[in-house]
Amino acid sequence: MAIRNVLKYPEKSLSQPSVKVDVIDDGIKELVKDMGDTMFHDVGVGLAAPQIGINKRILVYDSHAMDPEYEEEHREITALINPEIIAGYGSFISEDEGCLSVADYRADVKRYERVTVKALNIDGKQMEFDADGILSVIMQHEIDHLDGILFIDRISSLKRAMYKKKRMKELKNQK
Ligand SMILES: [Zn+2]
Repeated sequence: MAIRNVLKYPEKSLSQPSVKVDVIDDGIKELVKDMGDTMFHDVGVGLAAPQIGINKRILVYDSHAMDPEYEEEHREITALINPEIIAGYGSFISEDEGCLSVADYRADVKRYERVTVKALNIDGKQMEFDADGILSVIMQHEIDHLDGILFIDRISSLKRAMYKKKRMKELKNQK
């Protein structure tokens, strides 16, 4: 079990697009395991590789996050390799969205209601599935990370500027 450090805005790897994974070797499997441990440790429902400084197109999520009777001890990690959104339908406001890489901030974000995702699973098997509800938000949020996009890039420029100002002040005070 290895818990990695989750990078926070404005770390560079968070704004860089990630590259596709060619071969799912032992190194990738180890990385996926660490991502799961890290996500579990930091109590998130999803985590993308660039959040731990690795710009590869890998995400993990908690497959029980959408259970109505969610219990933390039943958490289970699912990994997707080279995931893509191939279709999006409808739109809704994802309320109070947050991110382990955006400290102490939440905002409403406009998202697709439902998406079709294409990806490889950890065994390299090609999959395609539809996601709605919280899973739809997790998919859009995490796949955005793989393109170097944070949820604060999807809110009004005024709100974003206010967050950035607050964050810069915080960082300055830490020094
Ligand atoms: Zn995030």
